Amino acid sequence: MTSNTLPTTDELRARARTSLGAIGVTVPEGGDFHARTPVTGEDLFGLKASGAADAEAAIGAAHTAFLTWRTTPAPRRGELVRRLGELLREHKSDLADLVTIEAGKIRSEALGEVQEMIDICDFAVGLSRQLYGRTIASERPGHRLAETWHPLGVVGVVSAFNFPAAVWSWNTAVALACGDTVVWKPSELTPLISLACDHLLARAADDVGAPRDVHRLLLGDRAVGEQLVDDPRVALVSATGSTRMGREVGPRVAARFGRSLLELGGNNAAIVAPSADLDLAVQGIVFAAAGTAGQRCTTLRRLIVHRDVAEPLVERLTSAYRKLPIGDPFDENTLVGPLISTAALETMNSALTRVQAQGGKILAGGNRRLAEAAPQAAYTEPVLVRVDEQNEVVREETFAPILYVLTYDTLEEAIALHNDVPQGLSSSIFTRDQQEAEIFLSAAGSDCGIANVNIGTSGAEIGGAFGGEKETGGGRESGSDAWKAYMRSATNTINYSSELSLAQNVSFL
Ligand code: NAD
Repeated sequence: MTSNTLPTTDELRARARTSLGAIGVTVPEGGDFHARTPVTGEDLFGLKASGAADAEAAIGAAHTAFLTWRTTPAPRRGELVRRLGELLREHKSDLADLVTIEAGKIRSEALGEVQEMIDICDFAVGLSRQLYGRTIASERPGHRLAETWHPLGVVGVVSAFNFPAAVWSWNTAVALACGDTVVWKPSELTPLISLACDHLLARAADDVGAPRDVHRLLLGDRAVGEQLVDDPRVALVSATGSTRMGREVGPRVAARFGRSLLELGGNNAAIVAPSADLDLAVQGIVFAAAGTAGQRCTTLRRLIVHRDVAEPLVERLTSAYRKLPIGDPFDENTLVGPLISTAALETMNSALTRVQAQGGKILAGGNRRLAEAAPQAAYTEPVLVRVDEQNEVVREETFAPILYVLTYDTLEEAIALHNDVPQGLSSSIFTRDQQEAEIFLSAAGSDCGIANVNIGTSGAEIGGAFGGEKETGGGRESGSDAWKAYMRSATNTINYSSELSLAQNVSFL
């Protein structure tokens, strides 16, 4: 199914202007840094990119603001985040419009992205009263041993196009509560939503009397990101994007002994066991594989199905794939919007060509849609591909809606296949067998940062820590105790006796 009508670029431009206007942003037109929409594939506005001097000034200002922000009591810092959360609630619909216009997400997913931002603000407000350190038993009489958590400094946030606002909020809400300041370099593909978020945070800062420079925005391409990576005043570089990017950023930050938090590519799989509830599995699989047009880091890319259920499952998936409504992401019936660019579509087609050359068989999907209506946009049918082995094409992350189907005979074999990829982000098993579920979640099971049972690989809640292992980079963001990455700990030994006793019974003097 295809909705054949798309909004025009003029309509999208007007809608972006209206949403930004409601938030308080006048589009800063007049430059050759283009805001673009994947809905039609055309340019919306020419903006001005930040240059090296802007980056230098932003880092300097954020560093100066840090010197006062770090001693502002944490619950007061939480008030800024609370106000930001209120403004996000007020402008949920405007922000979702911008997410759809720039990232092509369908309406309910765009609203979901903003909800995630609101949720992390609520979490970080609570966190601002819970930056707990521990008291540790000292081996010496009359001594107290304690752990204290302090703010880290300027956090450089580099983010990807596919969660253009939520990733910023995961980092920023937590970093601000922790006493850090933030310089944000969003994806070059999503400047408008970035201007909106930056403006709302500036409004929140004015409303609660916080320094404006607790947050600075830099629009631009990777060169601006590289400046954050190399500047020793940036204590933590939190970078979300491809493994290629992480491979460049990680060693550069490490070379100056800075800290990095890397959230990189995934190649997520689900195992479907013979006992699985297939109704539930089909729903979970289709959302995880075809939702967001396959452009989530947690998108389901590999399905490892027990041989006994492969035929009925594949039949149901094929039928579901054939019915997926593809087209205008603003149309409430659409489930699959556009890919970010025609370049992404070319990458997808090249992976399909290569996998077919190695024996892969397309079971459903793969045709381009709306090419006449919008030649510069990239609408495509999500694809199901049967493969006999996990070859090198299957082991790569292709950031598009391709789901490879493999079969297995024993759970041991399924787990081995599951883990035999370079990435380690998200994973799941569909089973009604508790023993199988527990094995999958155990140390000998999934090697990912996220492991689920009877639910797909995508759509995490903010309460848990988010991130993955191996080439996914090892970082953890969002909930649980991910906040510790944004702070430094100090161990304190306090002697309240009148004796100077040395540890390990050492005697001296
Ligand atoms: P990308 O790597 O092309 O770009 C991400 C960001 O990094 C952009 O802001 C870009 O300008 C910047 N950048 C690129 N090279 C850089 C460098 N050398 N130094 C500094 N900055 C640099 O990624 P993308 O296409 O925007 O996003 C898709 C990728 O992001 C996928 O691989 C996806 O899996 C991954 N992703 C991961 C997570 C996660 O949490 N693990 C979340 C979202 C997206």
